[in-house]
Amino acid sequence: SQATPALSTSPDELEDLDRRHLIHPLLSGGSTDRCVIVRGKGSTVWDARGNELLDMTGAGNWLAQVGHGRVELGEVMAEQVGRLSYFTSFSEFSNDQSIQLAKRLSTLAPEGFNRVLYTSGGSEAVDMAIKAVRLYHSRRGEPDRTWIISRQMGYHGSTYGGGSATGFDFVHHGVGPTLPHVRKVSPPFPFHPEMYGGEPITDFLVRELEQTIEEIGPGRVAAMIGEPVMGGGGVVEPPPDYWPRVREVLSRHGILLIADEVVTGYGRTGSWFASPERGMAPDVITTAKGITSGYAPLGAALMRDEIGDVVGGGDGFLHGFTYCGHPVGCAVALANLDIIEKEGLVPRSLLIGKWLRQGLAPAAELPAVGEVRVTGATVGIELVANRTTREPMPPPVASSVVKELQQAHGVIARAYGPVVVMAPPLVLEEGEAARAAEATVEVLSRLGTDGTLNS
Ligand code: PLP
Repeated sequence: SQATPALSTSPDELEDLDRRHLIHPLLSGGSTDRCVIVRGKGSTVWDARGNELLDMTGAGNWLAQVGHGRVELGEVMAEQVGRLSYFTSFSEFSNDQSIQLAKRLSTLAPEGFNRVLYTSGGSEAVDMAIKAVRLYHSRRGEPDRTWIISRQMGYHGSTYGGGSATGFDFVHHGVGPTLPHVRKVSPPFPFHPEMYGGEPITDFLVRELEQTIEEIGPGRVAAMIGEPVMGGGGVVEPPPDYWPRVREVLSRHGILLIADEVVTGYGRTGSWFASPERGMAPDVITTAKGITSGYAPLGAALMRDEIGDVVGGGDGFLHGFTYCGHPVGCAVALANLDIIEKEGLVPRSLLIGKWLRQGLAPAAELPAVGEVRVTGATVGIELVANRTTREPMPPPVASSVVKELQQAHGVIARAYGPVVVMAPPLVLEEGEAARAAEATVEVLSRLGTDGTLNS
């Protein structure tokens, strides 16, 4: 068909080869399920068998802001490869694309963020940020400020640094010790007031943070890291007073704040960056994903001038990846940001959220649904075994819902613990949003509180 490109290898063979050769990080070893995606256009992708699927996940990983199949981005990459495919920017060398992108990022980021360090992705950006804040304090005469505070249920990547800051234990199983000097505090989770023993959420969390800082020693904490809105934790928007009050505590103790905007950056939640409007006032912002919409691997740690001046001064940072400032990645990032801007995808994110909120409204009344959370073009539907106690469904239930959505309706969503998550391309059309919502309501209306999906 027109949709499926001619493949030199049959779908069966591709799936077999995949099973034989590829390790999938989040797939249990025994699973034989495979879905080989071979083409994409807009918010639709096709698998090797010719099935047409509505991508409500942003290419499975919260990105694809500008949608699939943007040939113009390929042209930019080809042109850049023809001019300069790569040259290091470790020392005095540089390249024009990484310079232009740095300038552009400083106009999109909050006021005073004029310094950037590039990486190949989000985890590396978090690692870089952790090292940068430690170095900042060390260079300013406080070398004991090495502790990082992060949050349970926060996701910050898979490297040893980002993984250590991540608040999900499963990422640490069997891989030896994590980074020392990382402490987790509780996350803000308005749907689960039981986590706070009856105390107002922010009062509890601020008190816990103060205690944690006191226990570690105020002069030993380098920074706190957090997502403005938790993504992998299940699309959780904090109470409005959470970040301003956390920021106040941190500032009082000379502690920096890293906003991990790897998911929320570049329009995902309805603004270029989600941290300023939530009163976070960060010192470092980590980004990746939407910076290129996934057309090339690229990440960036943006720094407030005062931090950047210290980190980039002295003997330099002494931390660099071969591919930091990759000219092809930076060129495609610039062209991607142009599209986001020209097509108004940042405000469109809010419109998509509105369509999804409307379409999913009936889901919120269903017996196995606890809450439907929508933030920009991002949705988290928390499944519960009991609506009164809000007892979460065991994780396999959300996985079975996601599987059924794909099999019965050709809609791709993702399961994060008990939460069904959607983060579609920001070019999603109204009819597509309605279709995804209708399919989701249909599947969830068949879900019992015992976790069984009736046919
Ligand atoms: N930080 C956040 C908030 C993320 O959601 C992710 C990935 O989903 C990362 C960091 C890690 O980024 P990457 O997978 O590009 O290394």
